[in-house]
Amino acid sequence: MRYLSTRGTAPTLGFRDVTLAGLASDGGLYIPEAWPQFGADEIAAMAGLSYAETAVRVMLPFVGDDLSEDELRDLCTQAYGRFAHAAVTPLVQLDQRHWLLELFHGPTLAFKDVALQLLGLLFEKFLTGSSTHLTIVGATSGDTGSAAIDAVAGRHGVDIFMLHPQGRVSDVQRRQMTTVLAPNVHNIAIDGSFDDAQALVKAMFNDPGFSGRFALSAVNSINWARLMAQIVYYFYAAVRLGAPDRKIAFAVPTGNFGDVFAGYAAARMGLPIERLVVATNVNDILHRALSSGDYSAGTVTPTAAPSMDIQVSSNFERLLFDAGGREGQALAEQMRGFESTRAMRLTNIQQTEAARWLVSDRVDAGEMAQTMRWAAESGQIVDPHTAIGLAAARRAETGVAPIVTLATAHPAKFPDAVERSTGIRPGLPGRVGDLFEREERYDALPADFDAITAYIAERAQPR
Ligand SMILES: *Cc1c(COP(=O)(O)O)cnc(C)c1O
Repeated sequence: MRYLSTRGTAPTLGFRDVTLAGLASDGGLYIPEAWPQFGADEIAAMAGLSYAETAVRVMLPFVGDDLSEDELRDLCTQAYGRFAHAAVTPLVQLDQRHWLLELFHGPTLAFKDVALQLLGLLFEKFLTGSSTHLTIVGATSGDTGSAAIDAVAGRHGVDIFMLHPQGRVSDVQRRQMTTVLAPNVHNIAIDGSFDDAQALVKAMFNDPGFSGRFALSAVNSINWARLMAQIVYYFYAAVRLGAPDRKIAFAVPTGNFGDVFAGYAAARMGLPIERLVVATNVNDILHRALSSGDYSAGTVTPTAAPSMDIQVSSNFERLLFDAGGREGQALAEQMRGFESTRAMRLTNIQQTEAARWLVSDRVDAGEMAQTMRWAAESGQIVDPHTAIGLAAARRAETGVAPIVTLATAHPAKFPDAVERSTGIRPGLPGRVGDLFEREERYDALPADFDAITAYIAERAQPR
C-alpha cells in the first residue's frame, strides 16, 4: 500500500514513513492510493471476533510490508488491552432505533485513545533500532493532548510538545495533560484559540528551517495512522448490528472531520453504511459546507463541547480530495485560495459525491441540553459532544436503518455541563480518581510562532 498527498506533489510513501511524517511535505495530507475492498463474506466473517482481531483484519491491508500480521496483532493486543471494558468499544441501546457506541473506555476517557494507544506503539516499533529522535508537536482542543501524552509518556526516542488554548479546555482535560510529569512531555498553554494552536503547528511543519532541524511528527488526526485505527470501530459496530445483511447509519460529533472521515473510509471499503450524519455545534462551517457548498471560516464561539469548537477542519481536505476525483493540483489551488481568504466554494462534484454518504446538521446549546435529558431518561448520561451527535441522529431521516451515535467522551470529562443540563454530576471512574490531587506542570506562551519555536528548540533533540 502506497500513500498519496492530497496536494499532488509530495512523494508517495509507505505506511511506516507516512506514520512518522504526519503531514506531507507539500502541505497536503496522506491518503491511501486506493481503498482496500471488503466483500460481504469477509464482513460476515468478522461476527464474533474480538476488537483486537477485528482491528487486525481491517488494518492489515493498510500497513503493507511494514508490519507482519503477527506484529500488527501484537500491537493491537497491547493497545486494546489497556481499555477498561472487555468489548473495548461496547454498544449500548437507547431505544428501538438508537444506539451509542461507547468509545471512551481508554485511559484518558475519550475516543482519541482508540487511535493514539496504537499510534504510540507504532512510533516505538518504527523507531526501535533507528537513530531518529522524534519531536511530536500537536495542538489540542483537550482530548487529543491527553490521549497522545498518555500514549508516548516515558517512551524512548520521542519528545512531545502539546499546545492547548489556555482556559478553553475543561479542568479534567487540562489536568490529564499537565499532571503527566515524564521528562519527554512538554505542555504549552497558548494565549489564543484552538484554531490558532493548530495554525502554529501547521506553520512549524511548513517552515523549512524548523522542520529541517527536528524530525517533526504529528499526533493530530492529520496523521493517517489515527484515521486508520478509527475505521475499525465502524466495522465492529456494524457487524454487531447485522452488517453485511443490514445497512447501518452513524451520527458523528465532528470537529476536525477525522472521526467521520474514518466512517467515510469504511463506507468506501464496502461496509454497508446507510448514512453518516455529520453533527456540528454552532461552530458550523462543516454543516454549511456540506449543506450549501460554503466553506468559509468565521470566528470560534466557545461552547460546552470544546472539541468541536473549530472553524478550520483539517481532515476536510481529505474528503475534498477523494470526493472531488483525486485531483491533487486542483485541490492545492483550491486550498491555497482558502488559506488566503478563509473562504471557498465546494465544486459540484465534491458536493454531489459527498452527499452520497454524508448529511449534516447543526445543534445549538438548548438542543444539546434537551438531548442530554432525553438520554438520561433512558438511564444514559452522555457528555456534551455525544449529546450533539445524538440530537442530530434523532432528527436525521435514515429510513429503517439502526443509527449509532459515536459516544466520543466520558461524561465525567465535562461534569459542569452535564450537571447543568441533567442535575446529575458524573463521577470520574476509579482508574483516574486522584487526578485533582496530582501536581500540574505547564508553561504559558503567547500564540506567536517565534516564541513557540524558540521554546521548543531549547528543549527538543535535533534530528
Ligand atoms: C476530538 C473530539 C471530537 C471531534 O472529532 P474529530 O475527529 O476532530 O471530528 C468530538 N468529540 C470529542 C469528545 C472529541 O474529543
